[in-house]
Amino acid sequence: MSIRFVIVGGGPGGNTAATVAARLGAEVTLIERDLVGGAAHLWDCIPSKAMIATGGFLSELHRAEVMGVAADGRLDLDALRARISSIETKLHRSVCELLESQGVRMIRGTGRLKGPHEVIAETADGVEEIEADAILLATGSRPRIPEWCEVDGQRVLTTRQAYPPNEIPGHLVVIGSGVTGVEFAHMFRSLGSDVTLIVSRQQVLPAKDPEVAAALEAEFLRRGVRLYKGARASGIEIDGEALRVQCDDGRVATGTHAVLAIGSIPNSDGLGLDAAGVTVDPGGYVPVGHHLQSNVGHIYAAGDLSGKLPLSSVASMQGRKIAEHVMGLHTRQHRHLDYEKAASAIFTEPEIADVGLAEAEAFAEGRKLRVTKVPFSANAKALIEGDSRGFVKIISDPATGVVLGGSIVGRGAAELISVIALAVTTNLKVADLVDSVLVHPALSESLADAAE
Ligand SMILES: Cc1cc2nc3c(=O)[nH]c(=O)nc-3n(C[C@H](O)[C@H](O)[C@H](O)COP(=O)(O)OP(=O)(O)OC[C@H]3O[C@@H](n4cnc5c(N)ncnc54)[C@H](O)[C@@H]3O)c2cc1C
Repeated sequence: MSIRFVIVGGGPGGNTAATVAARLGAEVTLIERDLVGGAAHLWDCIPSKAMIATGGFLSELHRAEVMGVAADGRLDLDALRARISSIETKLHRSVCELLESQGVRMIRGTGRLKGPHEVIAETADGVEEIEADAILLATGSRPRIPEWCEVDGQRVLTTRQAYPPNEIPGHLVVIGSGVTGVEFAHMFRSLGSDVTLIVSRQQVLPAKDPEVAAALEAEFLRRGVRLYKGARASGIEIDGEALRVQCDDGRVATGTHAVLAIGSIPNSDGLGLDAAGVTVDPGGYVPVGHHLQSNVGHIYAAGDLSGKLPLSSVASMQGRKIAEHVMGLHTRQHRHLDYEKAASAIFTEPEIADVGLAEAEAFAEGRKLRVTKVPFSANAKALIEGDSRGFVKIISDPATGVVLGGSIVGRGAAELISVIALAVTTNLKVADLVDSVLVHPALSESLADAAE
């Protein structure tokens, strides 16, 4: 008899696990209360990147003169909304088709555990109890709303209410300067809003390489984004057209709208975790071990619920690993997921991407490193494209030459980082990058130059 695998949540964690497990022969049931594809498709990755792409296109139009072209860009908000919705529909359809082709049973409803081997699905037609040999909880997370803030969905927004936008804010105050905050600051600035960014520390992107953060800050300042550094928002007041964000140091940021980008909380409430004996940590995450099992061996957690790196790409990879583990393909050590080697990108202008060891962190630990950096201003393709901002930095082991990490700031960073990610994952040496005959002229030539 095949393994009965029940999955609650159809985001990247849940739907990847469903496809892979079904392909490997499991009898899979996927319970999703909203749309398969998850928050990643509906509210997070996809709509934000679609808006950033439109903003990027507008920036390109503003650069038209540099390229020797006369152009006049006007934003059509209805067309933008239709574009986002059409991308989401296409992606939703393709995920559903993939799941159907693998024979996954999809239930539109809310799932919860009734016991260690029983899952309840509440649907519009009633309640169904499903027996399971293995269970995956992949219910994601939702935006964190602090107690001092009343979100009205009109002027004070969470990231999920900011698209498709009803209007482009005259002046947006972005609260929070992590990855989501800086992407929102960039997105709305490129769509024409004035932007003030509340930065609780002394640099945006506090977890990133200071040189990378400094490059983004310089570009924000050049584009007229106001940075309130060292300030924590502590209250919001609306007075007619004006909206004021009070900060704990006494400063007040005035705008027309505010968006909260201060992190998320896991969707673990109402999941029946007690009924199955699954432990949650004080933050509401389900702690998982090496194979992404909770304290109850056959109950797994993936994605944002697992409290690991909150990325769609990581959730998908976790889903794949869980499916393989459920189906008994877990003996090969090298198949473990190494979060330290996950590439990530920030879709700002300039684009930012990094992978592996961070320079500042490694120096703080006293590790010996070789750090090489080349600017895109020396790259022919960057000059041809009229945008030579940014750099490539490669971090390697001085004794062995093994590539340990890298950062890229500039055009195409999210794509280019794949090469360094592959090097980091497979222990390639800088000499391997130098020895590759690359395309000319291409931005990727800077990777080989940085590896020299
Ligand atoms: C603004 C923003 C932009 C982002 N951009 C990127 C990006 O560019 N790249 C990237 O890699 N990551 C990005 N992320 C992070 C990414 O969106 C998340 O890490 C990812 O969605 C997590 O996947 P998941 O499978 O855990 O959950 P989700 O995608 O949140 O899916 C969970 C699903 O579970 C369903 N669900 C919840 N509870 C139940 C229940 N009881 N019963 C049935 N169904 C349930 C929900 O309806 C949802 O569909 C972004 C996040 C934000 C906030």
